[in-house]
Amino acid sequence: MPAATLWQALADLVLPASCAGCSREGQPLRLEVCGDCAAAVQALRAAPTRPDPPPPGLPPCVALGDYAAELRELILSFKERGRHRLARPLGALLAEAVAATVPPSAPVLLLYVPDTTAAARARHGDHLRALTRAAADRLREAGRVVAVAAPLRALPKADSAHLSSAQRAAAAAAGFAMRSRGMADVRRAAPGSVTLLLDDIVTTGSTLAAASELLAGAGVRVHGCVVLAATRRIPPQRAIWS
Ligand SMILES: [Zn+2]
Repeated sequence: MPAATLWQALADLVLPASCAGCSREGQPLRLEVCGDCAAAVQALRAAPTRPDPPPPGLPPCVALGDYAAELRELILSFKERGRHRLARPLGALLAEAVAATVPPSAPVLLLYVPDTTAAARARHGDHLRALTRAAADRLREAGRVVAVAAPLRALPKADSAHLSSAQRAAAAAAGFAMRSRGMADVRRAAPGSVTLLLDDIVTTGSTLAAASELLAGAGVRVHGCVVLAATRRIPPQRAIWS
């Protein structure tokens, strides 16, 4: 999959509106994105990332880029600003990260961190499911053997913005339950599949760790996590007056 032609391969030009990456108006757009922003995110290359400190149980994690600049704006536009057409190019970028992680001959089982029911309703559908399906389509076009399963269900959660990272980890651990229907899809995946857990952003890693541990308890070993973006952890402030 030559990344430089990814956007062009996905869609024809559409009527100009504001670019989902830079908000400029009057630029020719493909799938909501101007040429400059498409080039910027297509130049990103997947690399290992690790929150510091990593939460217990976090599998090896790969991110396409930092949660910054055009990539951040595209994720926010897709998740929070109703730019649903970004599912295809963002899913294709996620597919690039998966393809960079797994040998071409290995079958892949893609799992994802689901939205809560409330979040999915606000976003007109589970945004990670849409990304995962788009990534799977792209990988299949490239000749990969790919299955998608949804063995996790997100439980309703309180706003975690005010919580400490320890409290966030505890909340994340209680955030998921298993779905028996999804487990049936896991069992149908090709034998020897590399099992990857997808999400859009990794911050503390507590969500991915909690989901992976729950899956492990149900007999599903997650080999790795693949995300679009990793936030840079800001080190705790040193007391300046001491
Ligand atoms: Zn742009």
